[in-house]
Amino acid sequence: MTTTNRFQDKVVIVTGGANGIGQATMLGFAQEGARVVIVDLADRGEAVAGQINKDGGNALFIKADVSNADQVQSLVNTTLDKYGQIDILINNAGITRDNLIMKMKEDDWNLVLRVNLSSVYQCSRAVVRPMMKKRYGRIINLTSVVGLAGQSGQTNYAASKAGIIGFTKSLAKEVGSRNITVNAVAPGFIKTQLTDVLPAEMVQTTVQNTPLGRLGEVEDVAKAIWFLASDDAAFITGQVLTVDGGLVMQ
Ligand code: NAP
Repeated sequence: MTTTNRFQDKVVIVTGGANGIGQATMLGFAQEGARVVIVDLADRGEAVAGQINKDGGNALFIKADVSNADQVQSLVNTTLDKYGQIDILINNAGITRDNLIMKMKEDDWNLVLRVNLSSVYQCSRAVVRPMMKKRYGRIINLTSVVGLAGQSGQTNYAASKAGIIGFTKSLAKEVGSRNITVNAVAPGFIKTQLTDVLPAEMVQTTVQNTPLGRLGEVEDVAKAIWFLASDDAAFITGQVLTVDGGLVMQ
Protein backbone atom coordinates (compact mmCIF):
# COMPACT_ATOMS: atom_id res chain seq x y z
CA MET A 1 0.00 0.00 0.00
CA THR A 2 1.39 3.43 -0.97
CA THR A 3 0.95 5.85 1.88
CA THR A 4 1.05 9.63 1.68
CA ASN A 5 0.52 11.65 4.81
CA ARG A 6 -2.59 13.80 4.30
CA PHE A 7 -4.43 11.91 7.06
CA GLN A 8 -1.42 10.55 8.95
CA ASP A 9 -2.49 9.09 12.32
CA LYS A 10 -5.99 10.51 12.10
CA VAL A 11 -8.70 8.18 13.39
CA VAL A 12 -11.60 7.96 10.95
CA ILE A 13 -14.95 6.23 11.43
CA VAL A 14 -16.76 5.41 8.18
CA THR A 15 -20.28 4.06 8.62
CA GLY A 16 -21.39 1.73 5.84
CA GLY A 17 -17.68 1.38 5.04
CA ALA A 18 -17.86 -2.21 3.76
CA ASN A 19 -19.46 -1.35 0.40
CA GLY A 20 -19.82 1.27 -2.32
CA ILE A 21 -18.98 4.89 -1.57
CA GLY A 22 -18.07 4.13 2.05
CA GLN A 23 -15.57 1.45 1.08
CA ALA A 24 -13.86 3.66 -1.53
CA THR A 25 -13.70 6.53 0.94
CA MET A 26 -12.31 4.36 3.70
CA LEU A 27 -9.62 2.82 1.45
CA GLY A 28 -8.36 6.27 0.48
CA PHE A 29 -8.15 7.36 4.10
CA ALA A 30 -6.18 4.21 4.92
CA GLN A 31 -3.83 4.76 1.97
CA GLU A 32 -3.15 8.28 3.23
CA GLY A 33 -2.09 7.18 6.69
CA ALA A 34 -5.33 7.18 8.69
CA ARG A 35 -6.42 4.51 11.14
CA VAL A 36 -9.84 3.54 9.86
CA VAL A 37 -12.82 2.07 11.66
CA ILE A 38 -15.25 0.37 9.31
CA VAL A 39 -18.73 0.24 10.80
CA ASP A 40 -21.22 -1.87 8.90
CA LEU A 41 -23.93 -4.48 9.13
CA ALA A 42 -22.32 -6.34 6.23
CA ASP A 43 -19.92 -9.11 7.34
CA ARG A 44 -17.62 -8.38 4.41
CA GLY A 45 -16.27 -5.45 6.47
CA GLU A 46 -14.10 -8.04 8.25
CA ALA A 47 -12.42 -9.07 4.98
CA VAL A 48 -12.07 -5.45 3.83
CA ALA A 49 -10.33 -4.51 7.11
CA GLY A 50 -8.19 -7.67 6.93
CA GLN A 51 -6.95 -6.76 3.46
CA ILE A 52 -6.02 -3.22 4.53
CA ASN A 53 -4.04 -4.56 7.50
CA LYS A 54 -2.33 -7.12 5.25
CA ASP A 55 -1.34 -4.29 2.89
CA GLY A 56 0.32 -2.37 5.73
CA GLY A 57 -2.57 -0.11 6.69
CA ASN A 58 -4.44 0.08 9.98
CA ALA A 59 -8.12 -0.91 9.99
CA LEU A 60 -10.68 -2.18 12.48
CA PHE A 61 -14.08 -3.62 11.58
CA ILE A 62 -16.97 -3.16 13.98
CA LYS A 63 -20.24 -4.84 13.08
CA ALA A 64 -22.99 -2.51 14.26
CA ASP A 65 -26.35 -1.05 13.34
CA VAL A 66 -25.84 2.71 13.26
CA SER A 67 -29.50 3.37 13.90
CA ASN A 68 -29.22 1.70 17.31
CA ALA A 69 -28.14 4.11 20.08
CA ASP A 70 -26.53 1.43 22.29
CA GLN A 71 -24.55 -0.07 19.42
CA VAL A 72 -23.36 3.40 18.36
CA GLN A 73 -22.16 4.29 21.87
CA SER A 74 -20.44 0.93 22.12
CA LEU A 75 -18.61 1.35 18.77
CA VAL A 76 -17.45 4.82 19.80
CA ASN A 77 -16.21 3.43 23.15
CA THR A 78 -14.36 0.61 21.37
CA THR A 79 -12.71 3.13 19.03
CA LEU A 80 -11.67 5.39 21.91
CA ASP A 81 -10.34 2.40 23.92
CA LYS A 82 -8.22 1.29 20.97
CA TYR A 83 -7.04 4.61 19.53
CA GLY A 84 -7.75 7.23 22.21
CA GLN A 85 -9.24 9.74 19.77
CA ILE A 86 -11.73 10.25 16.94
CA ASP A 87 -10.81 12.90 14.36
CA ILE A 88 -13.15 12.28 11.44
CA LEU A 89 -16.66 10.82 11.19
CA ILE A 90 -18.17 9.95 7.83
CA ASN A 91 -21.91 9.34 8.22
CA ASN A 92 -22.33 7.29 5.07
CA ALA A 93 -24.58 4.28 5.85
CA GLY A 94 -27.87 4.57 4.03
CA ILE A 95 -30.70 2.52 2.56
CA THR A 96 -33.69 2.92 0.25
CA ARG A 97 -37.19 1.44 0.54
CA ASP A 98 -38.85 3.11 -2.46
CA ASN A 99 -42.55 3.24 -3.14
CA LEU A 100 -45.27 5.66 -4.16
CA ILE A 101 -46.78 7.34 -1.11
CA MET A 102 -50.10 5.47 -1.47
CA LYS A 103 -48.26 2.16 -1.19
CA MET A 104 -45.56 3.15 1.27
CA LYS A 105 -45.82 1.16 4.46
CA GLU A 106 -45.22 2.96 7.73
CA ASP A 107 -42.48 0.45 8.54
CA ASP A 108 -40.57 1.47 5.41
CA TRP A 109 -41.01 5.16 6.22
CA ASN A 110 -39.75 4.65 9.77
CA LEU A 111 -36.86 2.36 8.80
CA VAL A 112 -35.45 4.77 6.20
CA LEU A 113 -35.73 7.75 8.56
CA ARG A 114 -34.08 5.75 11.33
CA VAL A 115 -31.18 4.32 9.31
CA ASN A 116 -30.48 7.41 7.18
CA LEU A 117 -31.26 10.31 9.51
CA SER A 118 -31.42 9.19 13.16
CA SER A 119 -28.08 7.39 12.69
CA VAL A 120 -26.49 10.73 11.79
CA TYR A 121 -27.79 12.17 15.06
CA GLN A 122 -26.66 9.10 17.05
CA CYS A 123 -23.15 8.92 15.59
CA SER A 124 -22.53 12.69 15.62
CA ARG A 125 -23.73 13.03 19.21
CA ALA A 126 -21.45 10.20 20.32
CA VAL A 127 -18.27 11.65 18.72
CA VAL A 128 -18.77 15.35 19.42
CA ARG A 129 -17.57 15.19 23.04
CA PRO A 130 -14.13 13.66 22.28
CA MET A 131 -13.78 16.01 19.30
CA MET A 132 -14.60 19.05 21.47
CA LYS A 133 -12.03 17.98 24.03
CA LYS A 134 -9.41 17.75 21.29
CA ARG A 135 -10.53 21.02 19.68
CA TYR A 136 -10.52 19.25 16.33
CA GLY A 137 -13.08 17.38 14.28
CA ARG A 138 -14.49 16.77 10.83
CA ILE A 139 -18.00 15.39 10.36
CA ILE A 140 -19.14 14.66 6.81
CA ASN A 141 -22.69 13.50 6.12
CA LEU A 142 -23.85 11.75 2.96
CA THR A 143 -27.02 13.38 1.71
CA SER A 144 -28.27 13.11 -1.91
CA VAL A 145 -29.41 15.28 -4.81
CA VAL A 146 -32.79 13.67 -4.06
CA GLY A 147 -32.78 15.61 -0.78
CA LEU A 148 -32.34 18.82 -2.80
CA ALA A 149 -34.58 18.22 -5.80
CA GLY A 150 -37.00 15.45 -4.70
CA GLN A 151 -37.77 12.21 -6.55
CA SER A 152 -41.08 10.51 -7.21
CA GLY A 153 -41.30 7.23 -5.26
CA GLN A 154 -38.73 8.34 -2.70
CA THR A 155 -40.60 10.52 -0.19
CA ASN A 156 -39.02 8.64 2.72
CA TYR A 157 -35.49 8.74 1.29
CA ALA A 158 -35.78 12.41 0.20
CA ALA A 159 -37.13 13.43 3.62
CA SER A 160 -34.22 11.67 5.35
CA LYS A 161 -31.65 13.27 3.04
CA ALA A 162 -33.20 16.77 3.27
CA GLY A 163 -33.21 16.32 7.05
CA ILE A 164 -29.48 15.64 6.95
CA ILE A 165 -28.91 19.03 5.30
CA GLY A 166 -30.71 20.92 8.09
CA PHE A 167 -28.88 18.82 10.67
CA THR A 168 -25.51 19.58 9.03
CA LYS A 169 -26.03 23.35 9.01
CA SER A 170 -27.32 23.42 12.60
CA LEU A 171 -24.49 21.29 14.01
CA ALA A 172 -21.93 23.35 12.06
CA LYS A 173 -23.17 26.44 13.93
CA GLU A 174 -23.13 24.61 17.26
CA VAL A 175 -19.56 23.24 17.17
CA GLY A 176 -17.66 25.66 14.93
CA SER A 177 -16.11 27.47 17.90
CA ARG A 178 -14.38 24.18 18.85
CA ASN A 179 -12.70 23.83 15.44
CA ILE A 180 -15.11 21.10 14.33
CA THR A 181 -16.41 21.42 10.78
CA VAL A 182 -19.63 19.75 9.62
CA ASN A 183 -20.40 19.42 5.93
CA ALA A 184 -22.53 17.32 3.62
CA VAL A 185 -21.81 15.67 0.28
CA ALA A 186 -24.73 15.19 -2.12
CA PRO A 187 -24.02 12.52 -4.74
CA GLY A 188 -26.09 12.19 -7.88
CA PHE A 189 -26.33 8.74 -9.50
CA ILE A 190 -23.27 6.73 -8.52
CA LYS A 191 -22.65 3.13 -9.59
CA THR A 192 -23.13 1.02 -6.42
CA GLN A 193 -25.37 -1.80 -5.15
CA LEU A 194 -27.87 0.93 -4.15
CA THR A 195 -28.35 2.01 -7.79
CA ASP A 196 -27.79 -1.42 -9.42
CA VAL A 197 -31.45 -2.22 -8.84
CA LEU A 198 -32.79 0.79 -10.82
CA PRO A 199 -34.57 0.17 -14.15
CA ALA A 200 -32.36 0.59 -17.26
CA GLU A 201 -34.62 3.32 -18.72
CA MET A 202 -34.26 5.39 -15.57
CA VAL A 203 -30.48 5.12 -15.72
CA GLN A 204 -30.51 6.08 -19.42
CA THR A 205 -32.69 9.16 -18.79
CA THR A 206 -30.43 10.20 -15.91
CA VAL A 207 -27.33 9.99 -18.09
CA GLN A 208 -29.10 12.04 -20.79
CA ASN A 209 -29.98 14.71 -18.22
CA THR A 210 -26.45 14.85 -16.81
CA PRO A 211 -24.28 17.56 -18.44
CA LEU A 212 -21.15 15.43 -17.93
CA GLY A 213 -22.95 12.53 -19.67
CA ARG A 214 -22.22 9.60 -17.37
CA LEU A 215 -23.04 8.03 -14.01
CA GLY A 216 -20.63 8.76 -11.17
CA GLU A 217 -17.96 6.41 -9.86
CA VAL A 218 -17.52 5.86 -6.12
CA GLU A 219 -14.13 7.59 -6.31
CA ASP A 220 -15.81 10.78 -7.63
CA VAL A 221 -17.63 11.04 -4.31
CA ALA A 222 -14.70 9.84 -2.18
CA LYS A 223 -12.51 12.64 -3.56
CA ALA A 224 -15.01 15.27 -2.38
CA ILE A 225 -15.13 13.64 1.06
CA TRP A 226 -11.32 13.56 1.35
CA PHE A 227 -11.19 17.23 0.39
CA LEU A 228 -13.71 18.22 3.08
CA ALA A 229 -11.82 16.08 5.63
CA SER A 230 -8.45 17.59 4.73
CA ASP A 231 -6.69 20.73 5.94
CA ASP A 232 -7.50 22.33 2.57
CA ALA A 233 -11.12 22.63 3.77
CA ALA A 234 -10.28 24.04 7.22
CA PHE A 235 -12.43 27.17 6.67
CA ILE A 236 -15.44 25.39 5.10
CA THR A 237 -18.38 24.39 7.26
CA GLY A 238 -22.15 23.99 6.99
CA GLN A 239 -21.95 23.41 3.22
CA VAL A 240 -23.46 20.89 0.82
CA LEU A 241 -21.06 19.82 -1.93
CA THR A 242 -22.95 18.27 -4.85
CA VAL A 243 -21.13 15.55 -6.82
CA ASP A 244 -23.50 14.71 -9.67
CA GLY A 245 -21.99 15.67 -13.02
CA GLY A 246 -24.25 18.76 -13.06
CA LEU A 247 -27.56 16.85 -12.81
CA VAL A 248 -29.02 19.18 -10.15
CA MET A 249 -27.89 22.80 -10.08
CA GLN A 250 -29.13 24.95 -7.20
P1 NAP B 1 -24.28 0.81 -0.49
O1 NAP B 1 -23.37 0.38 -1.58
O2 NAP B 1 -25.60 0.14 -0.34
O3 NAP B 1 -23.48 0.73 0.90
C1 NAP B 1 -24.09 1.11 2.10
C2 NAP B 1 -23.51 0.28 3.22
O4 NAP B 1 -24.20 0.66 4.43
C3 NAP B 1 -23.77 -1.23 3.05
O5 NAP B 1 -22.60 -1.96 3.37
C4 NAP B 1 -24.87 -1.52 4.06
O6 NAP B 1 -24.86 -2.83 4.55
C5 NAP B 1 -24.54 -0.53 5.14
N1 NAP B 1 -25.65 -0.29 6.04
C6 NAP B 1 -26.98 -0.23 5.73
N2 NAP B 1 -27.72 -0.04 6.84
C7 NAP B 1 -26.84 0.02 7.87
C8 NAP B 1 -26.99 0.16 9.28
N3 NAP B 1 -28.20 0.33 9.84
N4 NAP B 1 -25.89 0.14 10.06
C9 NAP B 1 -24.67 -0.04 9.51
N5 NAP B 1 -24.46 -0.17 8.19
C10 NAP B 1 -25.54 -0.17 7.38
O7 NAP B 1 -24.63 2.37 -0.60
P2 NAP B 1 -23.90 3.53 -1.45
O8 NAP B 1 -24.55 3.60 -2.78
O9 NAP B 1 -22.43 3.41 -1.35
O10 NAP B 1 -24.40 4.81 -0.64
C11 NAP B 1 -23.67 5.35 0.45
C12 NAP B 1 -24.36 6.64 0.89
O11 NAP B 1 -24.44 7.56 -0.19
C13 NAP B 1 -25.80 6.41 1.37
O12 NAP B 1 -26.08 7.27 2.45
C14 NAP B 1 -26.62 6.82 0.17
O13 NAP B 1 -27.92 7.26 0.51
C15 NAP B 1 -25.78 7.96 -0.39
N6 NAP B 1 -26.03 8.18 -1.81
C16 NAP B 1 -25.75 7.22 -2.75
C17 NAP B 1 -26.03 7.48 -4.09
C18 NAP B 1 -25.74 6.49 -5.16
O14 NAP B 1 -26.07 6.79 -6.31
N7 NAP B 1 -25.17 5.34 -4.88
C19 NAP B 1 -26.59 8.70 -4.45
C20 NAP B 1 -26.86 9.64 -3.48
C21 NAP B 1 -26.57 9.38 -2.16
P3 NAP B 1 -25.75 -3.97 3.79
O15 NAP B 1 -25.11 -4.14 2.44
O16 NAP B 1 -25.63 -5.14 4.71
O17 NAP B 1 -27.13 -3.38 3.72
